[in-house]
Amino acid sequence: MSAAPQPHVETAVFDVPMRVRFRGQERRAGVLLRGAAGWGEFSPFPDYDVVTCARWLAAAREAAYDGWPAPVRDKVPVNTTVPAVGPVQAHAMVTASGCTTAKVKVAESGQTLADDLARVEAVRDALGPTGRLRIDANGAWAVDQAVTALKALAEFDLEYAEQPVRTLEEMAVVRRRVDVRLAADESIRTATDPLRVTGLEAADIVVLKVQPMGGVRRCLDVAEACGLPIVVSSAVETSVGIAAGVALAAALPELPFACGLATVQLLAEDVTTESLLPVDGMLPVRRVQPDLALVHADATTRAAWTDRLQAASDVLD
Ligand SMILES: [Mg+2]
Repeated sequence: MSAAPQPHVETAVFDVPMRVRFRGQERRAGVLLRGAAGWGEFSPFPDYDVVTCARWLAAAREAAYDGWPAPVRDKVPVNTTVPAVGPVQAHAMVTASGCTTAKVKVAESGQTLADDLARVEAVRDALGPTGRLRIDANGAWAVDQAVTALKALAEFDLEYAEQPVRTLEEMAVVRRRVDVRLAADESIRTATDPLRVTGLEAADIVVLKVQPMGGVRRCLDVAEACGLPIVVSSAVETSVGIAAGVALAAALPELPFACGLATVQLLAEDVTTESLLPVDGMLPVRRVQPDLALVHADATTRAAWTDRLQAASDVLD
């Protein structure tokens, strides 16, 4: 037993259902931890190894112990996210969102390019000609498929396409064959990845998420080092975790694109009654306190996350 004091004074495990299945997840679970600066969220996806989890924990500890750098803006623009739903539902979701930027999921397993075209057309119609429309393939296309799809989808005036193919090498090939700007998302998981993006000229934009990168300060350093425009996005956290993404977006010197941080509504429940939900397409820059009465998980889930937190702590300490 170490004599060192426990760095976090309080932890609480949450386990909430998703409203719509998103990237294979039907529930979102994790640990909230409190330190002198406030609450942080540790919520790596279920299949992640302990070294990866340690980076996610570094972000939670920054939130809990250190707090975040001073903001240069007091609210940040966000996009609404449209899952792989039909065109009627997609249109309704965008209209109800109040956002002027929409991100549309494409290349869903079991669907066709015709499904993507119908969904994107409906979203363009809902946004009107001045709205911004980006798509996200989550790396699911092959190179030739991506080129065909992007040339067809370009009719609807794309702001950019997120991770059309799996690797940065493939993105570099696609980027030379289409007129659509590309953003690297899944390809960015460690601090050196954005430098590979610039080296390969694989993307025009880099998507940064606070937890996978290991904290707000780490993201700011990476943004400065790679020199490309940044889109701040979430890992579909509760409002406690989203606040860290908002802090990054608030501290970046330039913020040319709406952030992918309006994702709390993808959860059927939150850990606070003061959820970080967009108003007129903007999120306020503020910290979030969980309401502990809303933070719950069954005993098995609590035990599993306590073990996961300990294992990630062992890597960092
Ligand atoms: Mg993405």
